Amino acid sequence: MTVKHRPSIDGLAAYKPGRAPAAGRPQVKLSSNEMPFGPLPAVLDAISHAAATLNRYPDFHRVRLTEALAERHGVDPSQVVVDNGSGALLQVLASVIAGPGDEILHAWRAFESYPIVTAVSGATGVTVPLDDRYTHDLPAMAAAVTDRTRMAIVCNPNNPTGTVVSRAELDRLLDALPDDVLLVLDEAYHDFVTDPRSPCGIDLVGERPNVAVLRTFSKAYGLAGLRVGYCVTRPETAELIRKAVVGFSVSTLAQAGALAALDPESDVELKRRVAHVVEERTRVAAELARLGVPVVPSQANFVFMPMPDGPAMAAALEERGVILRAYGTDGLRVTIGTTEENDRFLALAAELLRRS
Ligand code: PMP
Repeated sequence: MTVKHRPSIDGLAAYKPGRAPAAGRPQVKLSSNEMPFGPLPAVLDAISHAAATLNRYPDFHRVRLTEALAERHGVDPSQVVVDNGSGALLQVLASVIAGPGDEILHAWRAFESYPIVTAVSGATGVTVPLDDRYTHDLPAMAAAVTDRTRMAIVCNPNNPTGTVVSRAELDRLLDALPDDVLLVLDEAYHDFVTDPRSPCGIDLVGERPNVAVLRTFSKAYGLAGLRVGYCVTRPETAELIRKAVVGFSVSTLAQAGALAALDPESDVELKRRVAHVVEERTRVAAELARLGVPVVPSQANFVFMPMPDGPAMAAALEERGVILRAYGTDGLRVTIGTTEENDRFLALAAELLRRS
């Protein structure tokens, strides 16, 4: 017997995380858009130091981390809400803002959590296909706004395609949204962007009344296991979110580690790591193109290959110890790893393509 629940949950496929390596087998995991490098020593030091106080609850209001993030982004601390991952903040936003009868608008394909948070909130998902460049079709999204739209989500860069939107296109969507309907800009991969046409959502927060930006420590900061994400928005919207986040959800270790990662000294090394990933992204994309594989130009730490035989390719790679993420017949996504990991993937891809 199933207990009574929201009917919208029944139609939902559970979130499938990127495959983890099988125990005991040396494998290269390029399936979850993580950084390939371990945490900085300063972050590990801060975490082990903070561990001495684990008999106490964490700082409920995440004060030091919130203030450091506000300073980093040139906003007031009242505009920043920290939670245990930007995925958690997405869920809180959807549930606070929309419910049965309301609509949440987002592109497809985009991040796989969007239909899930929509269904959990009870709202109806309205999806707009990506255009033929695998980019958000913002004019079509603007045309899909109705008087029931309560929230629109734009993933910039988009997961899994790595494409970005321009400021002008985004303004067009914002113009179609009433000032009291929220646009969520999911900027999980913002630090990898090199295209100057792609806007910084946090600038938009100052200019528009209805923008919320989501950022995370899971990607460029390389701290996916720590679980820290944050939202930058207007103070009134931040207050709504703060009321709904689960108390003490950001652990003492997470707060200390994220704070250490924001230190200017950590920043130098993190920027170097991001630059390495960006360089490797260019190399991997060029090499795949040379092998005849279709690739979408990426502004994130992964590259999308729109190939219908993606699942077969993923299975063949996995058998040989390299794990990618397949999206049915839509394509295959490879996360940028270390130079050696990327070389291993590229060599195997070349070998498999020669055989086929
Ligand atoms: N947004 C996007 C676009 C993502 O790809 C992810 C993670 N894969 C998240 C949000 C959630 O990240 P986290 O909860 O680790 O902050």
